[in-house]
Amino acid sequence: MKNIVLDDLVRILKEYNPEEIEIVRRAYDYASDLHAGQYRQSGEPYISHPLNVAYILSELHADRDTVCAGLLHDTLEDTRITKEDIAHDFNQNIADLVDGVTKLAKMNFSSKQDQNYANTRKIITGITEDVRIIIIKLADRLHNMRTLQFKSEFKQKENALETMEIFVPLAYYIGAYRIKSELEDLSLQYLKPDMYKRIEEKKLKIEEDGAECLGEMLGTIERLLNDKNIPNEIKVRTKNIYGIYKRLNEGHRLSDIHDLLALKIMVDEVENCYRTLGIIHSQYHPVNNKFKDYICNSKTNMYQSLHTTVFGLDGRLVQTQIRTFKMDKIASFGLTVYWDAEKGKARDIMQKDLKEKFQFFQSLMEINSMFGDNQQFVNQVKNELFSDKVYVYTPKGDIIELPKGATPIDFAYKLNTDIGNTMVGVFVNDEYVPIDYILQNKDRVRIVTDDLSFGPRDDWKEKAHTSYAKQKIRDFNRK
Ligand code: MN
Repeated sequence: MKNIVLDDLVRILKEYNPEEIEIVRRAYDYASDLHAGQYRQSGEPYISHPLNVAYILSELHADRDTVCAGLLHDTLEDTRITKEDIAHDFNQNIADLVDGVTKLAKMNFSSKQDQNYANTRKIITGITEDVRIIIIKLADRLHNMRTLQFKSEFKQKENALETMEIFVPLAYYIGAYRIKSELEDLSLQYLKPDMYKRIEEKKLKIEEDGAECLGEMLGTIERLLNDKNIPNEIKVRTKNIYGIYKRLNEGHRLSDIHDLLALKIMVDEVENCYRTLGIIHSQYHPVNNKFKDYICNSKTNMYQSLHTTVFGLDGRLVQTQIRTFKMDKIASFGLTVYWDAEKGKARDIMQKDLKEKFQFFQSLMEINSMFGDNQQFVNQVKNELFSDKVYVYTPKGDIIELPKGATPIDFAYKLNTDIGNTMVGVFVNDEYVPIDYILQNKDRVRIVTDDLSFGPRDDWKEKAHTSYAKQKIRDFNRK
């Protein structure tokens, strides 16, 4: 890996934020002084770590305060400086960000485990105050994972597991796909080193074998789009190693994973996505049940694209992903895309989007208000938010995200408290089912309500899966 120096950071800043180089240099000098004499396990001076974190943030075109906070992020924990000092020497915003990523002080905890839960809670709930805290934390974790080879084997496994359990879901939720997939691969490398190597070798072989087929398709599609004057850019995209591992683990065979190699086709506007789809289908035979419209039905983390799998050269199946350039940026960077698009207003827009468009955010706030105990909070978030999901439809076709194991009771309360309280029955895919039916992906769920109903029965609490529904049932029965 390349050794990052201050000039590398300055070079990126020059591209998108040249007015703010002065304060960033000052934050670097400040952190360098404070960390002087401290070294990482790799033997490098400690400052190399915050510098790398700031560099990762600058690659996302983070705003000035976030980059400075990246440089200063370990100063409260590891040096004698206080939050007030940072507020005085820089600004309140930077001080709040640094404080947000700093672990809680070691006192007041009866055990190391208690402190871990408290810190994990602090990280997760940081998103409700300022999502940039999580993004700095993700950059911090990414650099620590990239340099994990210097830690003991026990530490490596412990960190890799925590990364999979906490940081990968957070990266997924804010749509930071690139960070998510790198964290997944780095974790797998330490958790299952043999498996990682085996998949890596196979993947290389598949890429080699598929090169001709994909090259032919890329050239043909490009020519067809140019003929129709559709501005475009086409890239070959391969699934990350962890993505392949997950599918193999689900029982799929390598040869059945059709999106292992994919063509990513970016065009200028939405209308042209659908024209491109038509052009591809008229040239290559589509596999009928492999078409997905994530433009109309966008994923719950804002991802949008059309996916279709077609027969390429020699009958090889190839997935094509069609989206606009803008959708592609969101696919790679998620919420952090606003740093580029909205400059100074980015932070407020991110926070507003989280509240209004991200279903997990509301659930997180609920869980946070319901569980005072840190351990219970962390376990609940893991089970309910960071676990596998099911996606089901309302009768109108809206997509609702629920944790795996959710029942129609959870669905009803997620829609609205009154619907939950007056539910008397439920149809799933036009069939009447019991209310403790376990919802499956793509189920169409229609709740039958009756204003004269006596309200939720007490045993629904056991039949509900989410803490939100359970809480609402308890609220009702208390009245
Ligand atoms: Mn750090």
